[in-house]
Amino acid sequence: MESVQVILDIPTEKRSYDIHIGQDLLSQAELLLPYLSGKRAAIVTNTTIAPLYLDKLRHALTEQKIETFAIILPDGEQYKNWETLNLIFDALLGHRCERTTPLIALGGGVIGDLTGFAAACYLRGVPFIQIPTTLLAQVDSSVGGKTGINHPLGKNMIGAFYQPRLVLTDTTTLDTLPDRELRAGIAEIIKYGLIHDADFFAWLEQHIQQLLARDFTAMRYAIRRSCEIKAEIVSLDERESGMRALLNLGHTFGHAIENTMGYGIWLHGEAVAAGTLMAADLSQRLQFITSQDVTRIQHLFETAGLPTKGPRIAAKRYLEAMQLDKKVKDGTIRFVLLDRIGQASINSSVPAMLLLETLTTCI
Ligand code: NAD
Ligand code: ZN
Repeated sequence: MESVQVILDIPTEKRSYDIHIGQDLLSQAELLLPYLSGKRAAIVTNTTIAPLYLDKLRHALTEQKIETFAIILPDGEQYKNWETLNLIFDALLGHRCERTTPLIALGGGVIGDLTGFAAACYLRGVPFIQIPTTLLAQVDSSVGGKTGINHPLGKNMIGAFYQPRLVLTDTTTLDTLPDRELRAGIAEIIKYGLIHDADFFAWLEQHIQQLLARDFTAMRYAIRRSCEIKAEIVSLDERESGMRALLNLGHTFGHAIENTMGYGIWLHGEAVAAGTLMAADLSQRLQFITSQDVTRIQHLFETAGLPTKGPRIAAKRYLEAMQLDKKVKDGTIRFVLLDRIGQASINSSVPAMLLLETLTTCI
């Protein structure tokens, strides 16, 4: 097992927590014991993950004399809402859970976001542990403390910053993850290399086949390095004023793709892959990176089986959708662009002509 320590050294929060990464950690419930203050724990999961992993986790906790009960939610992004959040509160109140009862999120990003928000709100805050089971959740959503739900008028619009006590990443759970979900997670991993670590990007070029084959050693390294990069960026800037925005490479374009196509048609990671290629194309037009750089990036996404072109929709619709993005400030779109492979920066003064060229070329 390997561990990454997330150190939060920001005015609002000064503490740290561990991310443990390894095989078959679900059966090693003793790893959770230091973070369970009482003798009970609530496990929040969904109808897809429960039959696969719930018994294993409950059994391991029972062996450690921890009594558990499960809250099994419907599966899907469309359930990341108030009604489902209330199902969690109903169960917690029904079981008379106290302030010491931790909530354990067993699932992908949807379960992690819902459970974290429930943990932040229930009795004004109860302990929260993440056991992410998708690659995206293991490298992205379980790190950084963003929790929340969707509103009919916007995704992730209601939420709180709430940090887990521990993240337990059992790579064995990836064995059952559909290929398409795995590739969507790889898109975010590639993003980390692009924004922060050229050597990691080169490593990914060398090891992409091992990752697609779910080779444990390669996967553990990719997850660890991704968590380190995200933790480093987040610890510098928990609330997204500067550095944290770099994590949105490809996301302004990506969200526009998700918004115009309707959620669920493109997976988030797929939209991020195509969006990152758009950001790379724009970076090249501004002469920050070379065409060889763009070709390298394109080749890696292609090899990972990810889209490298956005859907064929009019540039005007892309622009409208980008204006709706949460990150737009005073009507100005702030783009995350590449200075080179391994370094990104924010740019709010992209000439409209160049943007238009990108939007018409990269579809
Ligand atoms: P998800 O949670 O919907 O999981 C994808 C699918 O895989 C679901 O059907 C799920 O039941 C299934 N699944 C999960 N683990 C499995 C396993 N081991 N085997 C088989 N099937 C499994 O999607 P996701 O991609 O994990 O997360 C997306 C969500 O995360 C979005 O709601 C997004 O807004 C959120 N997110 C949050 C942050 C953050 O910082 N909090 C960051 C990125 C994304
Ligand atoms: Zn993302």
